Amino acid sequence: MKRLLLPLSALALSTLFGLGDSAVRSEILDQPAPLRSRAEVSEFRETSRYADVTDFLEAIASRTKRVQVKAFGTSREGRPLPLVILSEPAIKTPESAHRSGKLRVFVMANIHAGEVEGKEASLHLIREIALGPLRPLLKDLIILFAPIYNADGNERVSINNRPDQKGPVGGVGVRENAEGLDLNRDFMKLETPEANGLVGEVLNRWDPQLIVDLHTTNGSYHGYALTYAPPLHPGGDERLIQMTREEILPAIRKEMLDRYRYQTYFYGNFIDEHHPEKGWKTFDHRPRFGNNYIGLRNRLTILSEAYAYLDFRARIEVTQKFVQSILEYAARHARVLSRAVAEADHRMRPRRSGKPAELGLRFANRPLPEPVEILGNEVISEIDPETNAQRFRRTDAIISYRTQDFGIFEATEMTRFPHAYYIPSGQMAAVEKLRAHGIMVERMPARLKAKVEVFRVNAFKPSDTPFQRHHETSLSGDWFTEVRVLPAGSFRVRTSQPLGRLAFYLLEPESDDGLVDWNFFDTAVREVPVDFPVYRSRP
Ligand SMILES: [Zn+2]
Repeated sequence: MKRLLLPLSALALSTLFGLGDSAVRSEILDQPAPLRSRAEVSEFRETSRYADVTDFLEAIASRTKRVQVKAFGTSREGRPLPLVILSEPAIKTPESAHRSGKLRVFVMANIHAGEVEGKEASLHLIREIALGPLRPLLKDLIILFAPIYNADGNERVSINNRPDQKGPVGGVGVRENAEGLDLNRDFMKLETPEANGLVGEVLNRWDPQLIVDLHTTNGSYHGYALTYAPPLHPGGDERLIQMTREEILPAIRKEMLDRYRYQTYFYGNFIDEHHPEKGWKTFDHRPRFGNNYIGLRNRLTILSEAYAYLDFRARIEVTQKFVQSILEYAARHARVLSRAVAEADHRMRPRRSGKPAELGLRFANRPLPEPVEILGNEVISEIDPETNAQRFRRTDAIISYRTQDFGIFEATEMTRFPHAYYIPSGQMAAVEKLRAHGIMVERMPARLKAKVEVFRVNAFKPSDTPFQRHHETSLSGDWFTEVRVLPAGSFRVRTSQPLGRLAFYLLEPESDDGLVDWNFFDTAVREVPVDFPVYRSRP
């Protein structure tokens, strides 16, 4: 996208009226009530820095036991990443959270630290739940917040970041973490300390059943204050995906319209901005994205994207109301949601009929069965007085288009979902990565001689274009069955476990977002033909 400098007037405004770090912080600290975020104190000209967030959280935690603040990890530059636990009676450990039987909901914000609205909305919600009118939510829920996931990116504030959106005039942080990696592409390879902390501490230990991930769009044009996405990878539990798409999100959409007059819909972009009737299209199915990853983990999840062209305050407000609506829905349906997640895990147990026979490896985007109403901006065509060229201009008018929504994905290639994978002891990087995801990997105490399925690799295809410090790689080849001897000390990964679908997607040699894609097996498979060093149990 084109990078534009902010007009001088905005720059001057931020210099004249912008408050320095210390001024804002002392105002928050010196006045015990009301507790206000930096966005509020600066009248929505500035966003909270890391110190503002931790000061705000400490101030709240000092007033009530309903708030515990822990760290779920440490950023690359050494900042402890705050995890806020809201509960009543107060709960301090994941074990006691599980014992309580309440639904655990996790809200994460600022994964892209230029998209700061979720961070401010989270602080406001934490205050309203801990000390304000939303406290009754804690009867049914344990609510966890990671308000500043990409803490290092947050500190790189500049008015040149995301200059096309309306405020905050004091600037925002950057998308990537301190090493230039996008945390919302790191869910499968888990290379950053931030993602390892999130998966290891929050997803594996606290194991929230519902996860909400807060973003702001990168500049798509449409008529919605906020768009949202369920898991888009069709390899997740079907019932959970259907429940999110057909029950939870429509109920929240209705609430947002009826109670707050906000138009919301499934995330997408017009395929052709000048011809909206051509259709509306969502983003990507791959589990490198958080919402798709969490879907493969058998958990409920909602991605939220505030509309970049609302002003800063309105973006915070719509995000806050969206999360509040989700929390209220979750509290009303806590038992149903808990049970749905438990049943999804149960279906993965040995000899359960709900386990998939096959799962997809490659996918294509597809339209929903019926056309839908999509809201867009009116675009008028006019002649540029200076150049005499025809140009398009957007007006504020909202127009409804009846068109196709390319909102789902369908497998174009599938393969058998085996009972187990076998990994020789030499592939420790793969074994450790599986364990970092929370997947159970057994070390086999004795040698095993068995008929297994082996993938003979006949092409190794690294991409020419680097992406996130990798040359993503794909393999092609053929499966055959053979007797192999697995020495003692080899590893077995059974798919009859809650994370069985994720294990499949990480280990399958032809998966489009697994360990092969992220170069974990390059050394073993570069010289073809060669046998892929992970075997499958046979049917
Ligand atoms: Zn984002």
